[in-house]
Amino acid sequence: MELEKYSFGTGDRFGKQGSPQLQAIRKAEEQGVDIAIVWNKSHREHLIVGTSQVDVRREADVAVKNSGWSGSYYVDADHIGLSNVENFLDHSDFFTLDVADYIGEKAEERDLSSFVDACSFLSGHLHIEGIEEPLNITREKIRDSAEKYLFAVQRAAEIYKYIESVKGKDTFITEVSMDETEEPQTPEELLFILAALTGQKVPAQTIAPKFTGRFNKGIDYQGDVEQFNREFSDDICVIRHAVSLFDLPNNLKLSVHSGSDKFSIYPGIRKAIELHGAGVHVKTAGTTWLEELIGLAESGDSSLDLVKDIYAASFSRFDELCGPYASVIDIERNLLPSPEEFSRWNDQKIAQSICHDMSCSDYDKNIRQLLHVGYKVAAEYGTTYLQALETHKDVIGRHVCTNLFEKHITPLFL
Ligand SMILES: [Zn+2]
Repeated sequence: MELEKYSFGTGDRFGKQGSPQLQAIRKAEEQGVDIAIVWNKSHREHLIVGTSQVDVRREADVAVKNSGWSGSYYVDADHIGLSNVENFLDHSDFFTLDVADYIGEKAEERDLSSFVDACSFLSGHLHIEGIEEPLNITREKIRDSAEKYLFAVQRAAEIYKYIESVKGKDTFITEVSMDETEEPQTPEELLFILAALTGQKVPAQTIAPKFTGRFNKGIDYQGDVEQFNREFSDDICVIRHAVSLFDLPNNLKLSVHSGSDKFSIYPGIRKAIELHGAGVHVKTAGTTWLEELIGLAESGDSSLDLVKDIYAASFSRFDELCGPYASVIDIERNLLPSPEEFSRWNDQKIAQSICHDMSCSDYDKNIRQLLHVGYKVAAEYGTTYLQALETHKDVIGRHVCTNLFEKHITPLFL
């Protein structure tokens, strides 16, 4: 099973927007660009929403069948480890092995030293096509990287082997993610991570490093865009070099766990993949759920009231909702409007406060982030919420599709 050059990961908290999400991919196809769609959902999301793994598989299958689409699609067991992979095994064909928590734990001495020996042929000035300055590799640097990453890669191998033992070889796509950590990985470190993946026989087709800067949920990139662009381009070159040196899948590519809406780095990503002829996987998080809220707000009446109620509850449960996402949100709490104030706003103002249009004066990144993590509240509304989605599915579907196509797919791929 081989992942296509371009792939796009899309989350769907409540599992109702598979069709409009797929429609966005089809619009790209109409313009001559093939993108594989990957529906991703993590264990944590399943727990919070109360969905199960089979739901995502059904959603994907139904969306694809109803549209008569013949392109590629996958169901991603997102950010899994050995402790929670079990329920995904029957329903996923894409596994994101998350080993970020193991970074910095030391592997056994004999593994470390044999890794350093195996990589020592890279020592010296290493010229990599596409990177201006040669990398200056020393045994110390190899050792440092090994101490940081080898143990984590060994854990990835453990998860990979387990999945393979159940599902069989070549029946699923493997991604390795190290993004949910504080410290970014340099292109040099990426080279050693890839060497370790080769040594551990993990046939990763995508790798999600931690890039420089902050990737907060649902809002734009915060950081040095120029530095990101340079590192992203260098990472692509490192991957190409590693594929030529090591036994790695030819289609290995970067995966950007974007947390959605990293508009200011999209041009750099696009430029780099064009320049190097590289592929990319861009994973977006649950902003589809925010499009649902926008559609509900615009629909007025009881569905607008529902949005106001969800805001009020999210506001009062701030700590509980934000806690699990603390490392990927930055909410200026004192700038959030009180629920009373929010409830006085009309449909358009509420919709625009949530909609990620930075040129709109009503856009409010604090409200957007709070509601982004507030999906637990909507989940608790159960059928009331789902019924509202059903009643307003046309307007919501338009928002879901337009958002993905115009704000994400177009700047990245078209
Ligand atoms: Zn991630």
